[in-house]
Amino acid sequence: MAGFKTHISTSTVLGIGYGVVGYFALDMSPVTCMLAAGLCSVAGMLPDLDSNSGVPVRETMAFVAAGVPLLLLRRFQDLNFSVESMALAGMLIYIVLRFGVSEIFKRYTKHRGMWHSLPACAVVGLLTFLIVQGDTYEPRLYKALAVVAGFLCHLVLDEMWSVKWQGGRVELKSSFGTAIKFWSKSGWANVSTYGKLVLLIVVALLVDPHIGQHFGVDQERVQHVARDFMDSIQR
Ligand SMILES: [Zn+2]
Repeated sequence: MAGFKTHISTSTVLGIGYGVVGYFALDMSPVTCMLAAGLCSVAGMLPDLDSNSGVPVRETMAFVAAGVPLLLLRRFQDLNFSVESMALAGMLIYIVLRFGVSEIFKRYTKHRGMWHSLPACAVVGLLTFLIVQGDTYEPRLYKALAVVAGFLCHLVLDEMWSVKWQGGRVELKSSFGTAIKFWSKSGWANVSTYGKLVLLIVVALLVDPHIGQHFGVDQERVQHVARDFMDSIQR
């Protein structure tokens, strides 16, 4: 199994490359590129949040808990939050992630379960897309894909560490195939992971203006129907 240092250094190098490509080939702003590089680097640690112990895992969770409110600042601004409300919201999100979500990982995930999988990678990418705000679609997609790249880089490294050379031939460890996978043996974990993915896709299509527009969803009409439905229930 690839260790913390291998993961963080590989995803950081990948993140720097991703930032350079964004700047020179995709015309992204320098700040966007640096932020994307940082996101890719941190994302390279995310899959191991399911290994319940160790300082690196705790540090990663603390970093995510502190970083998410900062990424949400633009959203808070759009909601006309005062500076005090932003500070309060930021603290609450920190507490929920640092202690609530972290506890959920401890209790309900097992190492190399469905959190090490391709649908989990899609969940994290979509969540990032929803968290980061911007005037246009492309910088948001660019940042979300930075997280996907970091997460995937971790899964690839885990699989590479499951292959070893023994006496001049390739041997596969029992962990082979447990990182890059679409599903696991646990039916409940599969349902839970794909359930979250479907839920996020529906939320993104219905609420996010960029995704709705991109996929031709008439969000105003959907929201109108939802309002009518809620009214009919309350009556
Ligand atoms: Zn791992």
